[in-house]
Amino acid sequence: MRAIRRFIVRPVLPPVLAPLADLAGNLRWSWHPSTQDVFASVDPQIWDSVQHDPVRLLGAVGRERWGQLADDDGFLDRLVAAKADLDAYLTTDRWYQRKAGADAPRAIAYFSPEFGITAVLPQYSGGLGILAGDHLKAASDLGVPLVGVGLLYKSGYFKQSLSREGWQQETYPVLDPDELPLSMLREPDGTRATVSIEMPGGPALLAGIWVASVGRVPLLLLDSDVEGNPDPYREVTDRLYGGTKEHRLRQELLLGVGGVRALRVYSRLTGAPAPEVFHTNEGHAGFLGLERIRELTVGDGSPDGSPDGSPDGSPDGGPKLDWDTALEVSRASTVFTTHTPVPAGIDRFPRELVEQYFGASGPTAGVPVERVLALGAEDYEGGDPSVFNMAVMGFRLSQRANGVSLLHGHVSREMFNGLWPAFDEAEVPIGSITNGVHAPTWVAREVIELATSRGVDPDGDDVDAFFRTVDEVPGTEIWAVKRELRERLVHDARRRLRKSSQDRGIAKAELGWVDTALDPDVLTIGFARRVPSYKRLTLMLRDPARLKKLLTHPERPIQLIIAGKSHPADDGGKKLIQEIVRFADDPEVRHRIVFLPNYDIAMAQPLYPGCDVWLNNPLRPYEACGTSGMKAALNGGLNLSILDGWWDEWYDGNNGWAIPSADGIEDPDRRDDIEAHALYDLIENDVAPKFYDLDGEGVPTRWLEMVRHTLKSLGPKVLASRMVRDYTRNLYTPAAVNGRALNDDYAGAAKLAAWKKKVKGGWAEVRVEHVESEGVGDAPEVGDSLTVRAFVALGSLSPDDVDVQLVHGVIDSDDALVNTTTASLAPVETYEGGRYRFDGTVTLEHSGAFGYTVRVVPRNSLLASVAELGVVAVPG
Ligand SMILES: *Cc1c(COP(=O)(O)O)cnc(C)c1O
Repeated sequence: MRAIRRFIVRPVLPPVLAPLADLAGNLRWSWHPSTQDVFASVDPQIWDSVQHDPVRLLGAVGRERWGQLADDDGFLDRLVAAKADLDAYLTTDRWYQRKAGADAPRAIAYFSPEFGITAVLPQYSGGLGILAGDHLKAASDLGVPLVGVGLLYKSGYFKQSLSREGWQQETYPVLDPDELPLSMLREPDGTRATVSIEMPGGPALLAGIWVASVGRVPLLLLDSDVEGNPDPYREVTDRLYGGTKEHRLRQELLLGVGGVRALRVYSRLTGAPAPEVFHTNEGHAGFLGLERIRELTVGDGSPDGSPDGSPDGSPDGGPKLDWDTALEVSRASTVFTTHTPVPAGIDRFPRELVEQYFGASGPTAGVPVERVLALGAEDYEGGDPSVFNMAVMGFRLSQRANGVSLLHGHVSREMFNGLWPAFDEAEVPIGSITNGVHAPTWVAREVIELATSRGVDPDGDDVDAFFRTVDEVPGTEIWAVKRELRERLVHDARRRLRKSSQDRGIAKAELGWVDTALDPDVLTIGFARRVPSYKRLTLMLRDPARLKKLLTHPERPIQLIIAGKSHPADDGGKKLIQEIVRFADDPEVRHRIVFLPNYDIAMAQPLYPGCDVWLNNPLRPYEACGTSGMKAALNGGLNLSILDGWWDEWYDGNNGWAIPSADGIEDPDRRDDIEAHALYDLIENDVAPKFYDLDGEGVPTRWLEMVRHTLKSLGPKVLASRMVRDYTRNLYTPAAVNGRALNDDYAGAAKLAAWKKKVKGGWAEVRVEHVESEGVGDAPEVGDSLTVRAFVALGSLSPDDVDVQLVHGVIDSDDALVNTTTASLAPVETYEGGRYRFDGTVTLEHSGAFGYTVRVVPRNSLLASVAELGVVAVPG
């Protein structure tokens, strides 16, 4: 029988137990083991049966049990202590209040299309979402005043299972917001708060706003499945990364434009300060910049959150700005993080579609559509004129941009060099901040206890101290913990394997072997990630006989635990999964290699600690960063990886293994062959022998040396708290400072916009006419001084508008300057006709081939990079 109506009966807790609802209502429980203990002790069986979901636990426990707990003094003490701990966490000063300084922003809005915070809020597909979740949690721990902005997808991403043949099956279970750890944002009269977004040729799109409390950080999630929306609009937030281009465009409109409007509503209703900085995690939320320009140009325009703005911080009643001024205001306070060097991963829309949506009846009515289109145009060499590129718009709408590892920064500068063609890659204004992971979420409690049992405060400011204690812990103790974690993983894997085999239609009677699948004493290698082709899920199958030998080695076997989802539209990815599943179905190896369906946070949490080795073999350099190996490292796992993403940066020869990559070999088959054989060789000759080389106490000493070194060398670096501090210092604070300089009555922004116009207009006349030097003879030596005089024509510009730079450094075999340093030359003489002489001196510091040149670039203290205007003048 089907119900004709469904509703959720809210539990009524005895008043003394009310703090349970507060604990369940803040997701901090998800990274706080002692709060989880409180929930577990409510009813351990139910806690397991609801998969550790506090909201469902509260709904499932009966009245009788509540009565018992209300009389249980021991329980009440623990409950009160947990609540007091949460209150202190939410209110006391933390790093940001102590250390970030007066210039740091009052509030930062962080936009992301997905957020992976806990298994019970499945609103993520993979690394991008997990990173966003870790960013919010670390910001909360550090006291960074972040507000997250995203969408609430009715079915999240999808649930993965397998057919009998090993083909990926997708299901889309519908989530009920009432059963999720969310609260609805309401108007004072109790009605649902909404935002509305004008749509071309139809009614406006409405969305409700849910709030998830991620520790100190509120996360606003927009939901289009609300009354008042026609059916097609209710489907806008149906699921992540599905549907047509137009569907995706609507989602991104809601995220970007709707997200800014939701922030205004949130400020109005809660008094929260308006964000001074807007950070967009990947290009999908880029339309937020257009909405901010709209607020300033055709809205009621006034400074975001300035005293004469309205209380919600929305622009109200101030002067209306012209496009160029508004662009400067919005750009200065926007940060854009790009996440993929894979061209197919860049979000692009047909240009006409964007034109249609941003016309006169669209959400940013009044904003000229040609200006919008120009922002996303690939108007550079090799660009496609028919598309609108969200990444390109992201760079143009944000003054600060970054990639997510040193190598990815470099690759991104190359990839987007076309936007700044006058500059070498090194000066393309895209920096990098390497990703990190949230330790309290990803590190097994037992591992943290190894350090805390020695008196180290995991929340202390001296992060290195925490990791140094690893030297004080005896090898036998570390090894015992690792075995325990491996065993836990083996049990979890068997449970999943049994369920998956049954789902595939395999009879129970045929499943006896599952009880002995995997072995808690065998070297365990993990491989789990999304399955786009560059991640090369099946590289390990390159030589199946060789892999089989490694798995079934009589003395030094390995076992492999594999997981990953393929995008539903990617049959290529599904084929790779099927190849793995078929290989793992073979009775000769099935006890040593398993594919576990539905990789998610719940699976990941015991997986990283339980693995001895974390394998990653992407096609270099397509892994922008990768974070799963960081989570493994924090649990004392050793990385075995291609030198890509973060591993390229932090592999030091002793903290794991680098699989040599055959960069430059064009034939992909040959490249895979070479890299796969290097992988087999490493496992056979180095990894397995070290793991099984036990001393008299049964401890692999050489292995543990690597584990200790991994924790000490990588531990402090791979943390999300390090990442969020870097964002705060290097991007958020400078963006806030510039934003304020421009926001303050907008005179600064108008001046900057006018100055840029003048400089660009006058640049054609800027020339380096002639350069003279003296001080070095035919045989220069280290320590000699080189004096340079540059004769420069500036046309209508003045010496204040420009920086005349001596660029010097090593020259390579093509006479190109590399590793350059720049020194500003000073104006010393003025001639007729806008011509000047600039002088300066440098000392030769290094022996070897040295070269220099002179160039002129625009100069203004409000620029974040010399390349910002894209213009430069060089001799000749
Ligand atoms: C960490 C994590 C990822 C991302 O891992 P990558 O190494 O960046 O591919 C994806 N999914 C889950 C569930 C994770 O925990």
